[in-house]
Amino acid sequence: MAECSEAGCENEAAVRLHVPWDADRNVCTAHARALVQQDGIVAEPIEGSEWS
Ligand SMILES: [Zn+2]
Repeated sequence: MAECSEAGCENEAAVRLHVPWDADRNVCTAHARALVQQDGIVAEPIEGSEWS
């Protein structure tokens, strides 16, 4: 399973973020919750992982 793409974070990536102004990135649920607050970012659960 992929790791979160945020710097210094070693959690398991569980969510794919679609970022309109940047490349898509896979992040852990904690980072997804923070980043999805920004306008335009769409979170999509990665298949087979728990988005809870
Ligand atoms: Zn993370």
